[in-house]
Amino acid sequence: MADPIKRKFSLQLSNPKDIQLDGEYSFSVGEFSIYEIPYPVYPTIGEHDYLKCEFCQNAYQKIYKILTDKYLGNESVEGFPNCCEGHKNLIGHKDFERKDFDNSPQMTAEKVIFTKQHIVNNINTKNWEKTINDYIDWCVESFGEMPRNCGLPLFLNDYYIYLKETVEKIKIDSDKKAKIISYLEKKRNNKPVNIDFEAIMAIYEKWYQMFPFHLAPQLSRLKNSYRTIIPFIKDTGIKNEFTGSEKLRYHTKDTLLEALENQTDSMLRQFTEYNLKKVWTLNEAKQAKFDLIITKRKHKLKEPYKGNPNNKERRYVKLLNKWYRDEKEFIDELISVLKDPIEVDVNNDNPYPNIFISVKGFRLFEALKSELVNEKTKYSDYSYIYYKMLNDSYLHNIKQQGFIDFLDKHYGADLGDRYSQFKSRNSSNAKKDIIYRKIKKDFR
Ligand SMILES: [Zn+2]
Ligand SMILES: [Zn+2]
Repeated sequence: MADPIKRKFSLQLSNPKDIQLDGEYSFSVGEFSIYEIPYPVYPTIGEHDYLKCEFCQNAYQKIYKILTDKYLGNESVEGFPNCCEGHKNLIGHKDFERKDFDNSPQMTAEKVIFTKQHIVNNINTKNWEKTINDYIDWCVESFGEMPRNCGLPLFLNDYYIYLKETVEKIKIDSDKKAKIISYLEKKRNNKPVNIDFEAIMAIYEKWYQMFPFHLAPQLSRLKNSYRTIIPFIKDTGIKNEFTGSEKLRYHTKDTLLEALENQTDSMLRQFTEYNLKKVWTLNEAKQAKFDLIITKRKHKLKEPYKGNPNNKERRYVKLLNKWYRDEKEFIDELISVLKDPIEVDVNNDNPYPNIFISVKGFRLFEALKSELVNEKTKYSDYSYIYYKMLNDSYLHNIKQQGFIDFLDKHYGADLGDRYSQFKSRNSSNAKKDIIYRKIKKDFR
């Protein structure tokens, strides 16, 4: 690489405007006016050497002569900067000096020939397209910038015209040639990027307000970094091998909305996946049901969340709503499993309507039985339950023997031959009374 090229330019900002985000973060935008004088580029070295090529030397001389005439002017045409309306505006600009452009005819002729040389020497390499486009980009940039209302950079158009003429004459693969020419045309017609700052900010701000950062700590931690994002810049492109600079690519309304939609999807996805990875301690039945719900949620997450394709403005809003619905359903299902005592029989029918007045009595009996009845004292325990429940009107007015038969038949209590023990009830057992009152409360 040659010595770094010295560049001379100035920058002016007109109509500055402050833009606010989230009521705190603000920055200025406005119309930038850049003035930069042209600078030379250097040729790359390869098999073809323009210094030893007669054709290139002739072409160089021809272009140099035409542009020198243009620059100096003659009896019928005025020279630079009186050549056109735009350039006339340079006169009086604080930084303008005509001598800064004196080398322009020579530099432009060189840039055409150097570009041709770079094309010829690199057209058969693997990386031909990028290196050629990079070189063209460098040459185009090297024409500098004119301030606002001062026309195009001097001879930039001539560079495009003569380069196209030259490329058309080179003997190279016709597909590659067509690609290079189409790149030149595209660059030549490319209007300067006009970013609609206000519209872009409004879209971003709306998204920022709407995104559920509050849902979880890992999302709210992100909130600050999303506040300071400058949403105009789509990305920095790939580095130019000659200038070393990265081409900035700017968002349009459409590309920003698309980016926000993808970003929303991926942020919500991370949040949900985090929840899915949580470890819950559950019994086996609940765990099985849990796994099912989690599998279902994972399955839904496989599909990207997408909004209505017809209305770009509303797409991420719809996406959010869809996600909310699914996430709510997911959380609801999880909660219902956590709450649901799967072991309890939720049947509301009274299984022994001849014994118990209602299903409540049956459930109370089941609870008392498991709390109060011990195998060794089962006669007095069952007897206690019988008299208490009879007294509190949970049982029909059945006789002792009827209850014993019921216990023997349905609970395998094996009390039949010890009827006398059952009969001798102990109605004043303080310990049992406490348990009885406690359990009865739950069945009121
Ligand atoms: Zn040549
Ligand atoms: Zn002009």
